[in-house]
Amino acid sequence: MKEYGHFIGGKNVAGTSGKTSEIYNPNTGEVQATVALASPSELRAAVENAKVAQPEWAAKNPQVRARVMMKFIELVNAEKEELAHALSMEHGKTIPDSHGDILRGIETCEFSLGVAHMMKGEYTEGAGPGIDMYSMRQPLGVVSGITPFNFPAMIPMWKFAPAIMCGNAFILKPSERDPAVPMRLAELMIEAGLPAGILNVVNGDKECVDAILDDPDIQAVGFVGSTPIAHYVYSRATANGKRAQTFGGAKNHMIIMPDADMDQVVDALIGAGYGSAGERCMAISVAVPVGKGTADRLIEKLVPRVEALRVGPSTDREADYGPMVNADAIERVSKYIDQGVQEGADLLVDGRGFKMQGYENGFFIGGSLFDNVTSDMSIYKDEIFGPVVSIVRANTYEEALQYPMSHTYGNGVAIYTRDGDTARDFAKRINIGMVGVNVPIPVPLSYFTFGGWKASGFGDLNQHGPDAFRFYTRTKTVTARWPSGIKDGAEFTLPVMS
Ligand code: NAD
Repeated sequence: MKEYGHFIGGKNVAGTSGKTSEIYNPNTGEVQATVALASPSELRAAVENAKVAQPEWAAKNPQVRARVMMKFIELVNAEKEELAHALSMEHGKTIPDSHGDILRGIETCEFSLGVAHMMKGEYTEGAGPGIDMYSMRQPLGVVSGITPFNFPAMIPMWKFAPAIMCGNAFILKPSERDPAVPMRLAELMIEAGLPAGILNVVNGDKECVDAILDDPDIQAVGFVGSTPIAHYVYSRATANGKRAQTFGGAKNHMIIMPDADMDQVVDALIGAGYGSAGERCMAISVAVPVGKGTADRLIEKLVPRVEALRVGPSTDREADYGPMVNADAIERVSKYIDQGVQEGADLLVDGRGFKMQGYENGFFIGGSLFDNVTSDMSIYKDEIFGPVVSIVRANTYEEALQYPMSHTYGNGVAIYTRDGDTARDFAKRINIGMVGVNVPIPVPLSYFTFGGWKASGFGDLNQHGPDAFRFYTRTKTVTARWPSGIKDGAEFTLPVMS
């Protein structure tokens, strides 16, 4: 059986803590590998390696650093079929979906090739008599990323690509549920020419995360995962004086106006609600049709589509979605469906108890659809993170708008309408970080930034795009005056512009 250790100092090393976690094949339910869970001393060894390697890496010209990333992109592209297969076999998403996971990560790597431009400072000649002023962006030193199970290729790349290009050394703590791809990405970075110690992968659980949060040499923590852990990581990292940005869970609404094209709406909702078994932070989990007629038309078209969803093993390229990541996920989603029924919502399609023929022990669940969901129900308030969509009926646009506005989460939202005024008003007023107008999963491209509001994100900078370069660097401003510009005599008052 495969045993994952860690990747420290440019090579794979076995874990020494004696603690491991099991990794399942979600298609069969069998344990297929184990992953070592690092002790604080193993984390410390990675930080020491990173600390030693970082200054020389930071001293390289940024374009020279970018060439390593260029080679890495080439290597990942050449191996993407194998990577997608490995990802699907641990996560459960279909192979075409795993390709998306990898390619969206590569796009961030591509954007990070512009590091020389992104790190350029500002310059003012003649800021005062004989005075020039300039600013520079410098790497922080050793920085870290803690990532979730649901995008094991994309989110690690979102974190380490800009950080490393800025001249930092990086400690990646990926999810302990699917380490295959993050571990391979680290090997490929070394193959691409990255010096040993600049990218380290330390596998682990809470103990390892706490060691990262308390380590005096780690300057910044970028986290993605569920909201309670995001809040915890933010609080502890910042209490220890670190820079932190932590992104959490979601409950993404789709507002459906009476003038929307219902066929487009249903296509969008079925993909965004049930794709990847709903295990996406940008999945649509709440549909808000405006007006009774809109709700009835939606249900008439949506129910047969949910009933006809093609669930299959992650290797079935024709499947709409594959198994969930583990048995706990199936149990959590099933419990929420039980609760929804108890709380009085109408269960129009029930995905509980679904068995996949030939894969009876796999972590499969059918798609579920609720109608007449209200804002006090747990299926509305909580992130279910599974293939379940709740329909909440609204009478007017203003009433519909209030649902996402009042929700705890603020990651993504979409509106479907043909009316430009309504769409414009919605985009301006909504208190949510990423907005789709006739786009169900509005994930910004790599040169914009990604981040939710409210309980979906803590910290003041977003992920990828220009914000990632701001997060993983700090600004220094230099004021310079040469002896020829210095007047005789001491100055005791604060110099001002006059
Ligand atoms: P999770 O919170 O369970 O785990 C995330 C990371 O935190 C993992 O590396 C894990 O090992 C670590 N961790 C888990 N428990 C911990 C604890 N008690 N103390 C310290 N560290 C701990 O999340 P997950 O189940 O891997 O991922 C799914 C969640 O991530 C969903 O809530 C989803 O919405 C969210 N997510 C958010 C975004 C975003 O950008 N906002 C993107 C993807 C996923």
